[in-house]
Amino acid sequence: MKEIFREILGVLFPKRCPGCDGILRVDELSQGFCIECMEELERIEGALCMKCGKKLYDNSKEYCRDCAKMNHSFDMNRALYLYKGPIVEGMYRFKYSNRRQYADVFVKDVERFLMDFLNNIQKDGAIDGIVPIPMNQSSVRKRGYNQAEAIAERVSELIDVPVYKNLVLRNKSTKKMKTLDPVERRLNLINAFKYHETGVKLKKILLVDDIYTTGATMDSVSTVLKDHGVKEIYSICVCIGSDQE
Ligand SMILES: [Zn+2]
Ligand SMILES: [Zn+2]
Repeated sequence: MKEIFREILGVLFPKRCPGCDGILRVDELSQGFCIECMEELERIEGALCMKCGKKLYDNSKEYCRDCAKMNHSFDMNRALYLYKGPIVEGMYRFKYSNRRQYADVFVKDVERFLMDFLNNIQKDGAIDGIVPIPMNQSSVRKRGYNQAEAIAERVSELIDVPVYKNLVLRNKSTKKMKTLDPVERRLNLINAFKYHETGVKLKKILLVDDIYTTGATMDSVSTVLKDHGVKEIYSICVCIGSDQE
């Protein structure tokens, strides 16, 4: 009975590949991506920057070029895939074309590939809250959901830690990040977030976002949280940029 029910659900709501949006074949379901996209998808593994988790192309280094130059206000970030190839358009659909179901695939890969990281950072004490990077409210209204929240909710089930959606809010007038260069991005972000007093006091937080590029967003949110008593901040992202460009 259960099997039939699952099959009907599969017909009504077919699972799609986050790379090309094609409907997955039965033998592709466990991977979450179709075979073609799987081949092009580059997972973040091997030697990684100790801070942001970018893949290092020079194994003798401990940090990527960005992190060697500057201090981040978060403690450590890890990501699943290189932001390159089919996943680039996938992330766009995830954000703008109502494909929040991709979050199931991403969090399955969090379970597969980032559990060691999540266990390690909790060795000396559990994470006490998951915070998705907030979007501004008009974007939420337009799109109907925050893609970081969709991931955070599933990670919450995975590691049994509650999500705090309103601990940090986005200030209204932030410019579109896409049009800005890295320096402008940082300036634009300095006042982009504000702390929302809810009475909860958290010490160790896991931030969740879709794409890590320079870390400027993570830094801004982390600064706001650390200014309000949070001691340790870790983060996970679906995609991350390359150290080479
Ligand atoms: Zn595909
Ligand atoms: Zn780095």
